[in-house]
Amino acid sequence: MKKLVDKFGRVLDYLRFSVTDRCNLNCVYCNPRDNKLNLLKDHEMLSNAESLRLIGIFVKHFEFRKIRFTGGEPLAGKNIVNLIAELKPLHESYGLDIGITTNGTLLKAHLDSLKQSGVTKLNISLDSLDKDKFCKITGKDKFESVMDAVLLAEEIGFQPLKINCVVMKGINDDEILEFVDFVKNRNINIRFIEYMPFSGNKWCEGKFISYMEIKDIIEKKFRLIAFGENNSEVANNYHIAGYKGIVSFISSISNHFCDGCNRLRITSEGSLKLCLFSPKYQDLDMKNYLRTDSFSDTEIAEIIEHKVQDKVLMHPDISELLKLEKNNMLSIGG
Ligand code: SAM
Repeated sequence: MKKLVDKFGRVLDYLRFSVTDRCNLNCVYCNPRDNKLNLLKDHEMLSNAESLRLIGIFVKHFEFRKIRFTGGEPLAGKNIVNLIAELKPLHESYGLDIGITTNGTLLKAHLDSLKQSGVTKLNISLDSLDKDKFCKITGKDKFESVMDAVLLAEEIGFQPLKINCVVMKGINDDEILEFVDFVKNRNINIRFIEYMPFSGNKWCEGKFISYMEIKDIIEKKFRLIAFGENNSEVANNYHIAGYKGIVSFISSISNHFCDGCNRLRITSEGSLKLCLFSPKYQDLDMKNYLRTDSFSDTEIAEIIEHKVQDKVLMHPDISELLKLEKNNMLSIGG
C-alpha cells in the first residue's frame, strides 16, 4: 500500500463519489429548471458492484480512508443505502470515514440504517429556514421533510452534523443570522458556502456574496472565535461563546484552498475527476477499465496514479470558470 501523491506533493486520500445525476429537487444554483439535462441511463452509471470495486482500489492501494457519497441526490433512485451497507466489510477492515451529502428530503427513514452501516459524517443541504423561500429555491415543497431529518439526525447523535447553506445575494442572505441562531442550542455545524458558477446555473456577480461579507454580517452581532486549522479542511471554523453549534465558511471562489487539496472525485458517469473545476474532457472514464476483464485492480491503481499527475495546482479564476462547458454539479456532486 502506498500514498497517492500528485506532482505538487499533495497527498490525496479523500474520495468524493457522485452515485447518480438524478435529483428530486431543482435548486436554482445547481439544477436550473430550464436546463434540459440529459440524465444518464442506468448502464451509464457505475453499478454498486463496480462502485465497491473502485472504492476498494482507492482504499487498499492508496490508503484512502475518507469516502463521501453525493450526487445528484444520493438517496434518490440508486440504492445507496445498500451500497453503504455493502461497504461494511471494507469499513471494518480499514476503518473508513464514511460521509454522505444529501438534500435531506428522503433522509429521515434511512437515518438508522445509515448509522448502522457506519456513516458518521452527515451533511444536509438547507438554504432557507423559511418554508416558502425553501420552495422557491428548490422548486419543491419539502421543507418539513428536510427539517424533520435535520432534527432527528441531531437527536440520534450524528456527529458532526453539518448544514450546507449556499448564500446568494438577494435570495437568502437575509437569513444568515437566523441560521446562526438555529445552531445556538444544537450540535450542528452551519456552513455558509460561496455560490459557485457551474454550467447553466446562471451565476452572476450580482448574486455572489463572499465569505468575508457573510462573516462581517455575523461579526456585527457575535464574536467569532477561530479554531481547528487544518490544511486540507475546506471550511474555516468558528465558535461563538455560549453556542453549542459551530459556524463555518467555505470560500471556494474568493479565497481558494487548493494548496491543501486532498480530494479526488468520481462523477456519476463513473469518471475520475481531478478537480471540481477541471474541464469534463479531462475526466478519465473508469467504466472502461472496470468493465474490461483484462484490467486487474493493480493495473487500474496504476492508471489512477498516472492520471493524478495531471492534477493542477489551483483551479482557474472566475473568468475561466464561467467558460467551462458541461461542468454540472449534479454529475460532479460538489
Ligand atoms: N443532492 C445533495 C445535496 O443537495 O446535498 C448532494 C449533491 S449537491 C450538488 C452537493 C452540495 O453542493 C450541496 O451542499 C449543494 O448546496 C452544493 N452546491 C450545489 N451547487 C452549488 C453552487 N453553485 N455553489 C455552491 N455550492 C453548490
